[in-house]
Amino acid sequence: MSGSGGPAGAVVEAAPADSGPTPDDWAAAESLLRGLPADARVLLICHVNPDGDALGSMLGFGLGLRSLGVRRMQATFPGPPEVPEPLRGLPGLDLLVPATEAYPDPELVICFDAASESRLGELVDRLDTAGAALVLDHHASNTRFGGVNLVDPRAAATSVVAEQLLARLGVVLDAPIAECLYVALTTDTGSFRFEATTPAVHQLAARLLATGIRPGDISRRVFDTRPFGAVRLFGEALGRARLEPAAAGGRGFVWTWAGLDDLARHGQRPYVLEALIDSVRCTAEADVSCVVKQTTPAEWAVSLRSKGGVDVSRVAVALGGGGHRFAAGFTGGGTVEEVVDRIRGQLDAAVISAAD
Ligand code: 5GP
Ligand code: MN
Repeated sequence: MSGSGGPAGAVVEAAPADSGPTPDDWAAAESLLRGLPADARVLLICHVNPDGDALGSMLGFGLGLRSLGVRRMQATFPGPPEVPEPLRGLPGLDLLVPATEAYPDPELVICFDAASESRLGELVDRLDTAGAALVLDHHASNTRFGGVNLVDPRAAATSVVAEQLLARLGVVLDAPIAECLYVALTTDTGSFRFEATTPAVHQLAARLLATGIRPGDISRRVFDTRPFGAVRLFGEALGRARLEPAAAGGRGFVWTWAGLDDLARHGQRPYVLEALIDSVRCTAEADVSCVVKQTTPAEWAVSLRSKGGVDVSRVAVALGGGGHRFAAGFTGGGTVEEVVDRIRGQLDAAVISAAD
């Protein structure tokens, strides 16, 4: 904390938890990158089961670094090296390597959109083996696990933070960089529908679009295309959705689930289920929505959303996960009913009161 220049006896207050990076944080991040030796190995990591913001901010930033002359660079994420089909058109995918092939001891590791070390899976050891660790993120729950942390909970997406750092480094946005950052921005703002869609978000979108990228093509590919098998699978999963109007202090809870056998029956990969929550959360009678997705015979990945009446990140954190106030998740074991019971048990305590 700087403050040594203040008047004697002045109380130096800690920055509020939701304020963004300090000027010192930005300066530290810039000097890490500007001070890189020409042959330094740079490892970019985003969170497990990467979404558009994780991959888009990582690859956009990687392309930006490449334009500055960084040559020895890898991008990766934990788990199977499978990029969800809707994101397979992203520029910069040539930077990707499987986690098993990632530099064991890079000079610099940069983490994207990961709120905590656990989101780095088997790659977490790089925080110790790398020469330096830089964290770019926008989760309020971020644990500041890097040596330098650029965490801005007010940012609509990690790509907002990434673009600010690229600008400070003098990177000129070109269409491939812009497309990555645009995918990230549209993913985390729900295509500019969520509350985080500030004037600054639209100004960033305008700068990105000015490079000539095609928003119609990008949106269709990323959000509006899925295999027919997935359409039918969504039909089944929506058909068994349950509405519990009395839950969450009367604000209502709607949930459904999909199992591995559903995926197998329709010949679908797990990532197709990421979009299912968007159909469930339409439910007018419920503030909280939830999709429980089986990832292994004994494990479920849970997506939670709220329309503003319930802090679902509290629910997720209480059950071992994390996320944002109105979009959060966790991983849990047991049966679907057991997982949903655990959620029910946390809902009332997470209702946002006037005092919050
Ligand atoms: P989604 O439901 O789209 O997978 O995730 C919504 C939000 O919750 C994202 O910000 C994501 O980072 C966070 N999230 C989802 N699952 C987990 C989890 O298992 N652990 C943590 N810490 N955060 C999660
Ligand atoms: Mn994000």
